[in-house]
Amino acid sequence: MGLGPEYASEGDANFVALYSARCHCGAVRYDVSADPVDAKLCHCADCRVLHGAPMQWAAIFEKRHVRFSAGVAALRFYSAATRRESAKLPRKVGCARCGTWIADEGRRMWLAFPELFEWGDPPRVPAAFRPTCHIFYGSRVLDVADRLPKWAGHKDRSQRL
Ligand SMILES: [Zn+2]
Ligand SMILES: [Zn+2]
Repeated sequence: MGLGPEYASEGDANFVALYSARCHCGAVRYDVSADPVDAKLCHCADCRVLHGAPMQWAAIFEKRHVRFSAGVAALRFYSAATRRESAKLPRKVGCARCGTWIADEGRRMWLAFPELFEWGDPPRVPAAFRPTCHIFYGSRVLDVADRLPKWAGHKDRSQRL
């Protein structure tokens, strides 16, 4: 079980790594060659429970801008919809060794978790990774006092709170 052909391959000479990400134990590593197309904070119950956090921060990339440098064989897959280990898309992608969730994978898109990127110490996060909105804010367990748009469910397809 691995990743599909939509990803950038090792031999892709045009791929220039812009940012690098790694799981907690370092077994899984990948690079991206572009800025994210969007970034969101999700308050849905699936994200909260699976991440053990009040919300999930996701930065969205096209898969062709993602290239693994280590650990494809160490990946595990899980379906939030069926609540089972499953390689079916959409799926959560994690490191089987340390348990870190690496991304949420859709058919075309890769929803990366910016916490895994190497930003330096102290971290300096590029503006392109800043969230543009809150989604599933209707399911929140913590209020967030910022000026970002807050959607009850999906962006543009639910009530704005
Ligand atoms: Zn790991
Ligand atoms: Zn969510």
